[in-house]
Amino acid sequence: MAAVQCVKCGKAGEPITDPLFMGRLESEIKANVCKSCWREWEGMKVMVINEYQVNLGEESGRELVKKHMRAFLKLGEAVDSSKLQDNYKPV
Ligand SMILES: [Zn+2]
Repeated sequence: MAAVQCVKCGKAGEPITDPLFMGRLESEIKANVCKSCWREWEGMKVMVINEYQVNLGEESGRELVKKHMRAFLKLGEAVDSSKLQDNYKPV
């Protein structure tokens, strides 16, 4: 399987093979992000949801998570995540 050139860590890494259920974003993520960085985001996502008390049942909640995902994976515009960085402890 071909490696993916990851925009997050800057290395050629293992591609994501699991379905992400991300709709239109899915191919963009898989083309640009390696598996380990995606795992990292999955941990971060839990923090985003907790910190911002995101309601995933609401469109605005899902949009906020997507925004943070793009910023974290360096797929798009930056977002103010200073609140998260204060609390973020890599495992
Ligand atoms: Zn990576």
